[in-house]
Amino acid sequence: MKLELAKGDITQEATEAIGNAANSRLAGGGGVDGAIHRSGGHEIMKELREKYRGCPTGSAVITGGGHLKAKYVIHAVGPVYSGKPKDAELLAGAYQASLELCSKHRIRSIAFPSISTGVYGYPVREAAPIALNTVKRYLTSHSEIERVRFVLFDDQTYLAYQEVYSKFQM
Ligand code: ADP
Repeated sequence: MKLELAKGDITQEATEAIGNAANSRLAGGGGVDGAIHRSGGHEIMKELREKYRGCPTGSAVITGGGHLKAKYVIHAVGPVYSGKPKDAELLAGAYQASLELCSKHRIRSIAFPSISTGVYGYPVREAAPIALNTVKRYLTSHSEIERVRFVLFDDQTYLAYQEVYSKFQM
């Protein structure tokens, strides 16, 4: 099983990369973004400022992992939930772009948080199938990626992902 779910704090993950739910200014913030910058140290923000001028919604950029166990952080920008069909496309795009960066940088394992379902207000019941199906589809055609973990912070989020995951045959 290349795709797995866990409950916990993504900053403690030892996968080669961890995903961040970033904002398009790459400015840091609360939630998982704040936790990653706090644990990883100032190096991560320094690299973001040096290399990038923001990141469009639905896409992602990569930096080193600073003091984290993970060697890389992939900063993915999910949509602020609007209730429009475009939301799903942008959310899928954030995961897809992250996985493409893994392939490009020969990263074989990544842990993702539940992008957009915190401050960005995406209902987790809608976001979970988009997140899991996007990753599942990518893994089917990209054998270079060995392991993708979703590391979910709270019970409600974990259960919503578990419900979708339990219907998967992988
Ligand atoms: P967004 O702005 O994309 O909605 P948030 O960081 O507000 O991002 O929330 C995304 C998800 O990350 C939420 O489910 C939140 O509970 C979760 N989260 C917060 N801190 C952590 C953490 N340290 N590890 C994993 N997930 C976290």
